[in-house]
Amino acid sequence: MAEQLTHFYEKFQPSHYNIYLDINRDTKEFSGTSTITGDAMTTAISIHQKFLNIESVQADGKAVSFNKDDDQEAINIDLPTTGVVTLAIQFSAKLTDTMMGIYPSYYEVDGVKKQLIGTQFETTAARQAFPCVDEPEAKATFDLAIKFDEHAGETIISNMPEVRTENGVHYFDTTMRMSTYLIAFGFGEMQSKETTTKSGVKVGVFATKAHKADELDFALDIAKRSIEFYEDFYQTPYPLPHSWQLALPDFSAGAMENWGLVTYREAYLLLDPKNTSFEMKQLVATVIAHELAHQWFGDLVTMKWWDDLWLNESFANMMEYVAIDAIEPDWHIWEVFQTSEAPAALQRDATDGVQSVHVQVENPAEIDSIFDSAIVYAKGARMLVMARALVGDKALREGLKNYFAAHKFHNATGADLWSALGDASGMNVGAIMNSWLEQPGYPVVTAKVQNGQLTLSQQQFFIGDGKDVDRKWQIPLNSNYDAVPEIMADKTLTVGDYQQLRQENGKPFFLNVGNNSHFIIQYDETSMADILDHVADLDAISQLQILQDLRLLADGRQNSYANIVPLLPKFADSHSNIVNAAMYRVANNLKKFVTPKSNEEKALKQFFDRLSAAQLDRLGFAPKAGESNDDQLTRPYILSASLYAENADAMAAAHTLFKQNEGSLAGLSADIRVFVLRNEVKNFGSQALFDKLLAAYRQTADASYKQDICATLTSTTDPDLIAKLVGQFENADTIKPQDLRAWFRGVLANDDGQQAAWDWIRKDWQWLEDTVGGDMEFATYITVISGIFHTPQRLAEFKEFFEPKIPTPGLTREIKMDISVIDSRVQLVQAEKADVNEAVSRAVK
Ligand SMILES: [Zn+2]
Repeated sequence: MAEQLTHFYEKFQPSHYNIYLDINRDTKEFSGTSTITGDAMTTAISIHQKFLNIESVQADGKAVSFNKDDDQEAINIDLPTTGVVTLAIQFSAKLTDTMMGIYPSYYEVDGVKKQLIGTQFETTAARQAFPCVDEPEAKATFDLAIKFDEHAGETIISNMPEVRTENGVHYFDTTMRMSTYLIAFGFGEMQSKETTTKSGVKVGVFATKAHKADELDFALDIAKRSIEFYEDFYQTPYPLPHSWQLALPDFSAGAMENWGLVTYREAYLLLDPKNTSFEMKQLVATVIAHELAHQWFGDLVTMKWWDDLWLNESFANMMEYVAIDAIEPDWHIWEVFQTSEAPAALQRDATDGVQSVHVQVENPAEIDSIFDSAIVYAKGARMLVMARALVGDKALREGLKNYFAAHKFHNATGADLWSALGDASGMNVGAIMNSWLEQPGYPVVTAKVQNGQLTLSQQQFFIGDGKDVDRKWQIPLNSNYDAVPEIMADKTLTVGDYQQLRQENGKPFFLNVGNNSHFIIQYDETSMADILDHVADLDAISQLQILQDLRLLADGRQNSYANIVPLLPKFADSHSNIVNAAMYRVANNLKKFVTPKSNEEKALKQFFDRLSAAQLDRLGFAPKAGESNDDQLTRPYILSASLYAENADAMAAAHTLFKQNEGSLAGLSADIRVFVLRNEVKNFGSQALFDKLLAAYRQTADASYKQDICATLTSTTDPDLIAKLVGQFENADTIKPQDLRAWFRGVLANDDGQQAAWDWIRKDWQWLEDTVGGDMEFATYITVISGIFHTPQRLAEFKEFFEPKIPTPGLTREIKMDISVIDSRVQLVQAEKADVNEAVSRAVK
């Protein structure tokens, strides 16, 4: 936007709100009064509203003139004087199904349709619920009073405890000083479980009665222990009387850290303790720990403006791992960071045009567009992991304690955090971290022996075309050779005589030990050969890192996939799940080089069989009692590979398990259920099985079973069934809009379904925009497409459809980047297809 928006807070600073809401689910309407006491700096002030009918505005009891400006999402008010004033604004509005503002979630219990009302205000939807200054800096205290078309057996919860009910109106205790986007409430028929932390904080989990009571247990335990951990780690008490976790059947994001009332997608809070995969348990635990980290970082101290969103998200994303690692040390949760966050950040951050972690934003669509899981979450978290490694935990905790003490109930900027960590550690943390925070991208460090001297140089790494503007980073090098300095601040660096260093150290030269710094390494032939000769002695993270860097360099055309193919068998028998994760990530990347149903594909399948057969023998198809976490987490990679390879033993084992469990498919072990079902649908599929699974999808409340069915049905090769599936995309009774992206992705990634899914999204883009367009994650539909397409024809079609949409606020950067992502992949495939397939056929001879 060209025009410079002024923040409303500069003109009017609220200190207290009395909010009354009367909500009617039956008529899908609500009305209310927002009474705001605040300080007016000018007589012409603005209050946010969106989609509200404004019935009257009073200032200190007298009607004042106002006009509603929907473009600016504002009510402009003329006050008689400046200074402290109490505004009373009466309004009404409709409840909509967009999963923003106040909205209904739909679910069924025993065939009866029900509703649970919940809220989602981040980033700018509090203004859809009541008039307010809807900016993070405009912190105030809130008294909430809510009436609804209540019947017996219903519960209402909010940020603070209820203090009384009068004439059907529920009054909640005054909140702490907080931002509008963190206000929340929910009501309907709920079940709950509660406990208390050591320090006396009430912790509760709330859900609809469609779930079994024991599905709440896991979350309750993790939430309680996470809060206890944070109270100790931050050395700052949890600031509210309770911490409620509420699962909403319709929820667009993963979860939302509303202060004292965190809301979640059901899949990320509730789980069947008797049959859920270990991987899913880890995911749910980290989501809960993430939201609870925010209760301090984000809620108690909030970013001043959305440009510092990373202060909230990068931090919570690091702390979720710190917390779970502390409370469940045997899970080795940082391994998940290495297999999910690190590759996501390294992949996206290599595309030219990507935003920096700290980024200027003004209008609401732009604000939504920076909730980018790879950048503000994953890269930002890696950046803080670097900072943590530099200052150490003692200084980190000391710095955080001081940061919370200085800024609690107020706002902060990135500079405030760096100065707190700097004071505690005696290091100039800001100077080092700003090169990562303010610049997009990351460097590749080249390690080379020149005239006998080991030299390092840094240069920005790109996948696809990139304009080198001579960026430079302060890189924590973390070498295994002491002669290498801690930080590389210059473009080049000479370490010393290579032969001498090699002899003194007695091991291959290695950089970025632990894979915690955000850069990759191009070793020259000598040092790479040395590393590969000793690869079996390397720890799992270093092995993962070798594969990760080789893969990225191949994507960036600084290496070739054909060179990596012969290396993969070296890693194939690893008992470490993270080495398998990295190895199969490379192997799966080879699929784009083969044409479906060709001889090349046949050879690739044989190659997958070579990689996985011994592990399949070792692990078996079904989980075994007492096996290690590593084995449990490795099996899915092996099953996926051996079924792709059409390994006869794997297919037979899956078919037998299906037959044995035909009466209760949900009861199949969640660790392998998806492989059993997919094998059946692909190889023994029928219309009847398809219908049975689709009906089970509609009926079950078990989110992980739902995910398995989605992954199964979208893999069908039958064109009639694919058409039937795509026909369900817009039927919310089958596929909730919150889950549609996974279905779309599944069909699009299926060679036999791609055309149908691609036709659907182009034809019904407007429907999609109307349904989920207001949502923070809308742009990720485009990201999903760009993650799959790899042919010149699809690139041309993608451009034809999306280029005209480049000016759409919130989509501009995504479309431009995604064109570049597909383009670079198309070029890579064209250039290397023959060599890669040749390397694969050599490997299977
Ligand atoms: Zn978050």
